[in-house]
Amino acid sequence: MTIRHGALAIDGGTPVRSALLPYAHQQISDEDVAAVTAALRSDWLTTGPRVPAFEAELARATGARHAVAFSSGTAALHGAAVAAGLGPGDEAITTPMTFVATANCVLYAGAEPRFADVMPGSLLIDPERVAAAVTPRTKALLPVDYAGHPADYAALREIADAAPGGPLTIIADASHSLGATRDGRTVGTLADMTVLSLHPAKILTTGEGGAVLVDDDDLAARLKRFRNHGIATELSARRDWTYAMVELGYNYRLTDIGAALGSSQLSRLQAFLERRRALAARYLQRLGGHPHLEMPEVEPGVDPAWHFAFARLRLDTLRVDRGAVFHALRAEGIGVNVHYIPVHLHPFYRERYPGLSFPVAEAAYGRLLTLPLHAGMTADDVDDVVAALDKVTTAYRVG
Ligand SMILES: *Cc1c(COP(=O)(O)O)cnc(C)c1O
Repeated sequence: MTIRHGALAIDGGTPVRSALLPYAHQQISDEDVAAVTAALRSDWLTTGPRVPAFEAELARATGARHAVAFSSGTAALHGAAVAAGLGPGDEAITTPMTFVATANCVLYAGAEPRFADVMPGSLLIDPERVAAAVTPRTKALLPVDYAGHPADYAALREIADAAPGGPLTIIADASHSLGATRDGRTVGTLADMTVLSLHPAKILTTGEGGAVLVDDDDLAARLKRFRNHGIATELSARRDWTYAMVELGYNYRLTDIGAALGSSQLSRLQAFLERRRALAARYLQRLGGHPHLEMPEVEPGVDPAWHFAFARLRLDTLRVDRGAVFHALRAEGIGVNVHYIPVHLHPFYRERYPGLSFPVAEAAYGRLLTLPLHAGMTADDVDDVVAALDKVTTAYRVG
């Protein structure tokens, strides 16, 4: 089959799609609307009975002993960093290939983020680089399940247990990976604390929201205190006016409105994951071996949750850079994105830690594109993305 491509939309041609296909989009059903409406008409708008109910369901769905809900994934990361005992003088090792919040939470706790480069195939943190970055000050590892692929927790655990400063706490930033498995183990059981983001772009949403999945009872209690001003007594357990603030905490509570949405969404988690996996499989099947694109490698034993799909341009086969391809695809109605600008390249981090260089992450960033992938998409939508990629890369190929 030969496809005849017209002029690029960016040059005035007809776009592949007339309306932009977003890279991410929430799925809201009538049941979700009814659940939120019921919460709005109840006695509780802020944290009430729906939050612990959602937490119990989330724990059951992930195999963790506890789920502690927060007002955002970023707040949950902050809570996990503090619960891990991070403070001044401590270091935590994370990946540059992430959203800034992953590293910021270490600074919120008064500790210093250190970075370890990623592996070229999966863009997951490289355990060898982590081992090389460990110092006597290292207290935690903060891997990210990039694009929904769980990091190599078995290798990270060996490093954590052998660290000179004592066993390190592993905090998984699983903002992308709710529902993923590695070697048959679900996200939520792979790390000491597992942080979810429940932002609308993610796999499941509460509007804004997040959670920490944790087995340890003491860590769970610390997280619950931390999200409620450091107050030891949960509001609902109080029978008189007394409460005791025992440490400095924050107001990071999730609302009952958000929890109602989360519980309703959670009943469709498996369907969301199945759809994401089918769409990702179609991308990999249709774009594998593409002359101008490199597709992600899925490591053995990994069943990703596919928060997004990504491709890397083979820039040596193109006469333009990633920016030109990005803008041409947007003009074709394809809502491509870029995840991520490596954290150490942001002005704040450049100023604070000058001279850092992570060649694998930087090389990947220069040719990276996030492809649309969400549970509301169809196989035809994937085919539109593939058609637009073919159209644009053909127009821009060398020779
Ligand atoms: C979305 C995201 C966060 C932040 O989550 P919010 O809920 O938006 O605060 C942190 N880390 C990663 C990797 C994310 O993708």
